[in-house]
Amino acid sequence: MTHHITATWEDGTVFEVSYGYGARQRRMLECLHCDWEEQITYGGARHKGLDHLAQAHGAVGSPTMTADARARRQVMWTMTVCFLIAAVVLWWATSRT
Ligand SMILES: [Zn+2]
Repeated sequence: MTHHITATWEDGTVFEVSYGYGARQRRMLECLHCDWEEQITYGGARHKGLDHLAQAHGAVGSPTMTADARARRQVMWTMTVCFLIAAVVLWWATSRT
């Protein structure tokens, strides 16, 4: 699980659904407060998670979706690699003239 979808109850209690890749690279939503889980086949993981929190637990306040540090690092790393490749290509193209 790499993402956390949270919503708060009216007294401030935070309810959470985690989201990420499960077995065989299937995208799964998993509730931390009951045994609900759902396989996501297309789009809207955030929407489905928040729907569950609202319907099953009555948590409708301040809906958010956050990524784990590990997932964020992966994105940062991918961006850095892309930037470096672009820099090398640019350097190569300009140094040929
Ligand atoms: Zn639940």
